[in-house]
Amino acid sequence: MSDKDFIIIDELDQKDKEEENEVVDKKDTSVVTQDTKEDDDDGYEKYCLICHRPESVAGKMIDLPNHITVCSDCMQKSFDAMTNGSVDYSKLFNMPGVQFLNMSDLDNMTPKSQKIKKKKEKPKEFHKLDIKDIPAPHKIKAQLDEYVVGQEYAKKAMSVAVYNHYKRVATDTMDDIEIEKSNMLMIGPTGSGKTYLVKTLAKLLDVPLAITDATSLTEAGYIGDDIESVVSKLLAAADNDVERAEQGIIFIDEIDKIAKKKNSSQRDVSGESVQQGLLKLLEGSEVEVPVGANSKNAMVPLTTVNTKNILFICGGAFPDLEEIIKERLSHKTSMGFNAELKDKYEHDKEILSKVTVEDLRTFGMIPEFIGRLPIIFTLKGLDKDMLVKILKEPKNAILKQYKKLLALDEVNLEFNDEALEAIAEKAMKKNTGARALRAIIEEFMLDIMYEIPKDDSIGQVTITREYIEGVGGPIIQLRGQAIPRLN
Ligand code: ADP
Repeated sequence: MSDKDFIIIDELDQKDKEEENEVVDKKDTSVVTQDTKEDDDDGYEKYCLICHRPESVAGKMIDLPNHITVCSDCMQKSFDAMTNGSVDYSKLFNMPGVQFLNMSDLDNMTPKSQKIKKKKEKPKEFHKLDIKDIPAPHKIKAQLDEYVVGQEYAKKAMSVAVYNHYKRVATDTMDDIEIEKSNMLMIGPTGSGKTYLVKTLAKLLDVPLAITDATSLTEAGYIGDDIESVVSKLLAAADNDVERAEQGIIFIDEIDKIAKKKNSSQRDVSGESVQQGLLKLLEGSEVEVPVGANSKNAMVPLTTVNTKNILFICGGAFPDLEEIIKERLSHKTSMGFNAELKDKYEHDKEILSKVTVEDLRTFGMIPEFIGRLPIIFTLKGLDKDMLVKILKEPKNAILKQYKKLLALDEVNLEFNDEALEAIAEKAMKKNTGARALRAIIEEFMLDIMYEIPKDDSIGQVTITREYIEGVGGPIIQLRGQAIPRLN
């Protein structure tokens, strides 16, 4: 090979590289002069002529004559292509865009220096958890209270579980008493704040959070996301910082959708198999995940993430679970009593909170899966009063947001109590919990936000029940004088 020191390169690629190098050369001519002091950290680094990866990514570069540097991967590939006989060189000569270059020909083509500016590394803010830094459960709950209305039991259970979890992470005790993982299962109707609770929690603990939908997961090899993709999402949320990801939270929503299919004769690739696949992750295992991509392929580097300290929170609405609980309770009682009790459970609003592991098994969750979610709690469906509170009380309540927007136009926005009730009543009808609130408000606020800035003299707008119900207008007060004017 000596005399024919060839490398195969793409003609067009070569052009690109030349242009890029020119830019570097023009930008900073000092590069050329500093070229001899290769080990000096001049803010520049070598990159591979073939794959363009910088030294910090591709590893130590191999120096070739004429200031050419190539990474060891590309060098190896070039050798392999030549030695395994899979390439018919005579054909390559005729292929458009491909040509053989003699190294000496590169003399005029290559830049004087093959270096690019080093990417500045972000300062690492990550700090290992210290047991003294973990807020006590009552403090976690107090912070959750600022954002989440009601759901007292859920907030309390969650605060304690999270506190214990991070204590376990911080101490990392390896003695005989190993603290069990505090993975959680949240059961509650849609729009009751499951996702919101987890998001708030991750924010106040300042840990990365990945939210996944269990319905998108399938057993490896089938259409859908691999189970391990949940971990790569978390890694992405942690800016590819493995250590940070390993202390993060993964929230798997719609977990009830992966219940075992009843009477299914086919392989249950998106139900029971997903539960099986999740077992190892929930417990703690080393997972190989692609860095900076969702799926594994030859082009993406892999890294290993240990899920031992990742907190898994699963959530779901579990429709029909109430029926299962009622069935169990009334079955037990009907032995001694009669249908009167059945009626009692029929109208029990708190029925969901009486859930047991047995009920979840009947629902279709496999015992091993439930066993790995030791903290189980329920959230209540939101009633009218709670919806009104959600409108006005949380730190970033929707009404506060609109008030702030109009305050920037120096207009005071008010909602009278009747109006708030009307909004809550409308939301109740939609049966999607607090999720309906925003849609309803956005609908009528559009006109307000459009009309009010037109008139500088308007000082205050009060939203009324009549306006919400479409039978009247808001009360407009002009600046300086309080003249109610109904549209
Ligand atoms: P789900 O239980 O279906 O996951 P979400 O958590 O997504 O419901 O709730 C939807 C939205 O409703 C949230 O973004 C939040 O703004 C609001 N919300 C729901 N429940 C509450 C609550 N208890 N307190 C405050 N806001 C809530």
